[in-house]
Amino acid sequence: MSFQSAIDLHTHSTASDGALSPAALVEKAAHAGIEILALTDHDTLSGLSDAQTAAIKHNITLINGIELSAQWDHKTIHIVGLNIKLDRETMINATIHLKQLREERAIKIGAQLKKAGIDGAYENAKRIAANGTITRQHFSTYLVEAGYAKNQRDVFKRYLVRNKPGYVSAEWPGIEETIARINEANGVAVIAHPLRYKMTATKLRKLISEFKDCGGKAIEVVTGHNLPAEIELASNYAKRYDVAASTGSDFHNETTPWGQLGNLSSIPNDLTPVWELW
Ligand code: AMP
Ligand code: MN
Ligand code: MN
Ligand code: MN
Repeated sequence: MSFQSAIDLHTHSTASDGALSPAALVEKAAHAGIEILALTDHDTLSGLSDAQTAAIKHNITLINGIELSAQWDHKTIHIVGLNIKLDRETMINATIHLKQLREERAIKIGAQLKKAGIDGAYENAKRIAANGTITRQHFSTYLVEAGYAKNQRDVFKRYLVRNKPGYVSAEWPGIEETIARINEANGVAVIAHPLRYKMTATKLRKLISEFKDCGGKAIEVVTGHNLPAEIELASNYAKRYDVAASTGSDFHNETTPWGQLGNLSSIPNDLTPVWELW
């Protein structure tokens, strides 16, 4: 196993929309041979303390992370914060604000689905999310469970996306403030899965350039299920804008359309890996 295949810097637990508890995720990662793992739940730090305890037990390095929802050019962009300090008030307040935004959005999603003839979606999504951040993934799980769609992929074609029932646009904070929160927490801001936003090359270049001007430091060059051509494309962006490169599976569960834990390709060696920044 190469050194880099033991590193996974983008994963989810039940603190947001992952299937495994933080402790179970760390245990699974350790068994998969991962030595450096970042837990990056959506808009919350709440899984990190349990993950840290488990990481000590399994003798792996746990990087404190978060995946923040942000708005740019009317689109949702995910910005991962890596190696952040957990005691910074501005970051903690940001997560409280995001939780509120998510709660308000979830209520609206529920109301819309009700109009489309689907009862109890909000209550059930809330039940499935339990104490975790409520996300569209929890609505998706309910829609499959209740027989409205055959699987997650099907849900995200027929519901919860633009121009379909259950789509509610969210007013996430802008990228400038999002990056500022990460930098105030001594973290490294990373654009998550840059090729997944369905943006034109021109738009993506504008995003990376503005991200860098705001103090962003890296982009994910390697993500789950990457094709070599995608790694090459993302590498070219990293070189062109002189930003560091990150790697992470975006693991949620066994059936996710994104990656499984670890098993990632290496970052091309002419790039600066993100861990050199901490
Ligand atoms: P949210 O942050 O609440 O908008 O929820 C987004 C989450 O829903 C993502 O992090 C994924 O876990 C999941 N998701 C979004 N799009 C898809 C898709 N096309 N297929 C499967 N899961 C998706
Ligand atoms: Mn997710
Ligand atoms: Mn994401
Ligand atoms: Mn993610």
